[in-house]
Amino acid sequence: GNQLVVAHRLRMWYTVRTGLFSKPRYVKAVDDVSISIGNGETMAIVGESGSGKTTLGRVLIRLLKPTGGELFFDGKDIAHEDDHNLLWFRRRTAIVLQDPFSSLNPYHNVKFIVEEPLIINGIDPKERDELVRRALEEVKLTPVDDYLYKYPHQLSGGQRQRVSIARAIVTRPDFIVADEPVSMLDASVRVEILTILKSIQERDKIAFAYITHDISTAKYFSDKILVMYAGKMAEIGSYRDVVKEPHHPYTQALIEAIPDPDPKNRFSERKVVTGEPPNLANPPPGCRFHPRCPFAMDICRREEPPMIEVKKGIYVACWLYAKR
Ligand code: SF4
Repeated sequence: GNQLVVAHRLRMWYTVRTGLFSKPRYVKAVDDVSISIGNGETMAIVGESGSGKTTLGRVLIRLLKPTGGELFFDGKDIAHEDDHNLLWFRRRTAIVLQDPFSSLNPYHNVKFIVEEPLIINGIDPKERDELVRRALEEVKLTPVDDYLYKYPHQLSGGQRQRVSIARAIVTRPDFIVADEPVSMLDASVRVEILTILKSIQERDKIAFAYITHDISTAKYFSDKILVMYAGKMAEIGSYRDVVKEPHHPYTQALIEAIPDPDPKNRFSERKVVTGEPPNLANPPPGCRFHPRCPFAMDICRREEPPMIEVKKGIYVACWLYAKR
C-alpha cells in the first residue's frame, strides 16, 4: 500500500547516570518499534505515562533524532538527516501538544501564532491572511475577527487548543502527531475538540498519530492501534479487532479499565490496571509487564517475548501465544 510513515525497529535510547560512581545506563524510551501509517490513515498510540508514547511521537515528527532503527516519510529516509535538511518534512507535518496553556507564546496574538508557520515557509502576506482565516474557521473560532487579535490569556483552555490546531493545519500538512490533545481540558469540551480534529483529518485525508493514555478516546482516530508498554510494542493491529478481542494481558487490562459510560454503572466495581509502570532506567528482565501480569510464567521473567502474529495483522508481544 501507500505508506506515508514507516518505522522499522525504531529506537530512542538515552544514557543516564543514576549516581556519581555508577555506570551509565540506557533508558530505552522507545525500543524496537515498527509501524506504518498510510496516507490519510490514523493510528492511536496508547499507553500509560512512561510507556514511551510521547517520545515515539516526537521521533516520528523528528523533533528527536532516533538513536537506532529506520524511519521513512513518503519513501525518504528521515532517521539520519540533520535538521537543516528536513525543511521539506517540516512543511508537510505538524504536532499538537497536550498543554494549550504553555505551548502558545503568551506575547503573540492569535493571528501571529497561526500565521507563523506560513511566514517560516515564505508564503506571501495576502495568501497568509486567507489561510489564517480559513484555519480559524475550520476550528470554529468564529467570527474570526473576534479572535485574531486576542492573546492566549484571554482565551479558555478549549479555545487555546483550537488555536494550536489551527496553527497545525494552516500549512495543510499530510501528517499530524497529536499528543494527548484533550487531556488537560475540561471533560465538557473534550468531545468537541476531538470532533473538530477528526472532521479536519477526514476531509483533508491527513495521516494522524493520536497519542493518548485514554484508550476510550482512541475511537476517534483509530484505523490502527499500537499499545505500548515500557518503551516496547505490546500489541498492534486494526483498532476494531484489538478492542473487540484484545490479546495482550496489558491491552485487556486497559480495556477493562474503561469506565462504563452508563451513569447507572459508573460507580460500580471495575477493574483497573494495578501496579506501577516500571522505571525505564531499570526495567524488569524478560517481559517488562511480568510484575503486573496475572498470567506471568517462568519464561516471562527470563526472556523477552517475541512479536507473534495471533491473527492476520494483529501482533502481540506475549509468551502466551508462542508455540513452544
Ligand atoms: Fe504476561 Fe508473560 Fe505475556 Fe508478559 S509475556 S504479558 S508476563 S503472559
